[in-house]
Amino acid sequence: PKQHLAQFLLDSARKYPEKEALFFLGKTVKYKELLDATYRLANGLQSLGVKKGDRVAIMLPNCPQAVIAYYGALLTGAIVVQTNPLYTEREMEHQLNDSGSTFLITLDILGRRAGNVLGKTGIKHTIFTSIKDYLPFPKNLLYPLTLKKDGLTMKVDYSDTKHSFKELLSQSTSSPVLVEVDPEHDLALLQYTGGTTGVSKGVMLTHHNLIANTHQTKAWSYQTKEGEERYLAALPFFHVFGMTVLMNLAMLQAGMIVLLPKFDAEATLKVIQKKKPTVFPGAPTMYIALLHHPSLRQYDLSSINICISGAAPLPGEVQEQFEAITGGKLTEGYGLTETSPVTHANNIWDKRKLGSIGIPFPDTEAKVVQSDTGEELDVGEIGELIVKGPQVMKGYWNAEEETSRTLKDGWLYTGDMAQYDEDGFFYIMDRKKDIIIAGGFNIYPREVEEVLFEHPAVMDAVVAGIPDEYRGETVKAFIVLKDGAQMDEEELDRFCRERLAAFKVPRSYEVRESLPKTLIGKTLRRKVVEEEQNKQQ
Ligand code: ATP
Repeated sequence: PKQHLAQFLLDSARKYPEKEALFFLGKTVKYKELLDATYRLANGLQSLGVKKGDRVAIMLPNCPQAVIAYYGALLTGAIVVQTNPLYTEREMEHQLNDSGSTFLITLDILGRRAGNVLGKTGIKHTIFTSIKDYLPFPKNLLYPLTLKKDGLTMKVDYSDTKHSFKELLSQSTSSPVLVEVDPEHDLALLQYTGGTTGVSKGVMLTHHNLIANTHQTKAWSYQTKEGEERYLAALPFFHVFGMTVLMNLAMLQAGMIVLLPKFDAEATLKVIQKKKPTVFPGAPTMYIALLHHPSLRQYDLSSINICISGAAPLPGEVQEQFEAITGGKLTEGYGLTETSPVTHANNIWDKRKLGSIGIPFPDTEAKVVQSDTGEELDVGEIGELIVKGPQVMKGYWNAEEETSRTLKDGWLYTGDMAQYDEDGFFYIMDRKKDIIIAGGFNIYPREVEEVLFEHPAVMDAVVAGIPDEYRGETVKAFIVLKDGAQMDEEELDRFCRERLAAFKVPRSYEVRESLPKTLIGKTLRRKVVEEEQNKQQ
């Protein structure tokens, strides 16, 4: 593996200067142009005082500037802090302060919200860019932007601390910058966890962690050809999944990235037909949304050869249907922010098992253990999944106690309950925190959800433990019905009883218009439980 994460871009630009690196809303950026802009930004950042180890926060949706900012900051030896543009002010403030970020690169239209927060943080310089810098509006617009033309940009009062991205690039030279790093120890990234289960923590990932995981993903994403693939970026780069499996992998493979500023089913179908991407990593909700789109059949999705699903369990049905519609292969991967993120994948060779996350990546060890004692468990026994490998984080930023609870002798305790079979395939039962204990029985919500997904009327479902006077907790299912479907509780109950032990069958059902999701499409079970608790009070 190469020594510096940004080397992926440098190598591809040297080998394929004329190849298209990015496609964004009708505009193409070649590798040589991407490299030129990235060097300019790195020089610009250095002129503003960025030094090795400084934290540079990036708060951008998928757009060319997000790629330039990421590799530009890395070239200076800085640590990138990816910040979700949809964060509330409170979340933004926590992350900027917790990480000790001193530079921020963001969009002008996010400026007002950022402006309210910046005074309460250590940010010294903010660099504003505009989505219009790369948007040939309104020609060739493939994306149904809801914003009006003048809503795409906002005036910024530039000053000694507020800078224009565009001007910073034009005023800086494109001479090469590459600050040396110690890949095993120097951090490339402080990546905050999704916060699905609680407070978001800063995960310390080194250059080596991310380089290793990109190579591991490449080794197992079957026959992607250097210089020939087109990657569809519907996943955001500020999330670790999109960052590794899309951005870093595409740069390593000199692929072209088709960027979508946010996931929209219609826009995704259109862009697939027009730009013919070959690789489409996504979250299960994205594949589900496409499969349910009313005009799905009008689009040709046959360019797609490889899909990689991650972040949440992939229902077997969805896997099969999506493969049928594209004629490609849909792999299910597993991982977490703490592992850069991928540790397992299924469907690598011809042998695959529905519902399994597959086998560990190359150079990755995995065990199922008793959480408190660390005692290793055998085939078919359920315990906590622990993993070890070159992609495992250094620890949590500023949280030694949390780190020592999670990392023991190089083994990362994932917080996920799992088991494995005689072929070495792993199965995630659910998160340790989400196990429902009803009348002394352990119930894994995911197992119940899988059954609900099989029902023809059900489009989406989440199962949670609801406080119950007698049983401690009781199983409740929240369901989103398919268009035109009717809820027949008795029939659904019968359906579940035929497929699940009696104690696992939901005691009550509630039909919802939609379920609360994280930005990447994970169902927020915690939120559903909180809403239910509030109702009961
Ligand atoms: P937080 O840790 O702050 O609650 P988060 O869990 O959303 O946030 P991530 O690191 O993005 O943070 O998510 C990792 C988790 O996602 C895993 O621990 C696992 O529970 C779940 N996950 C990822 N891939 C899969 C999969 N293929 N099947 C089941 N669960 C998965």
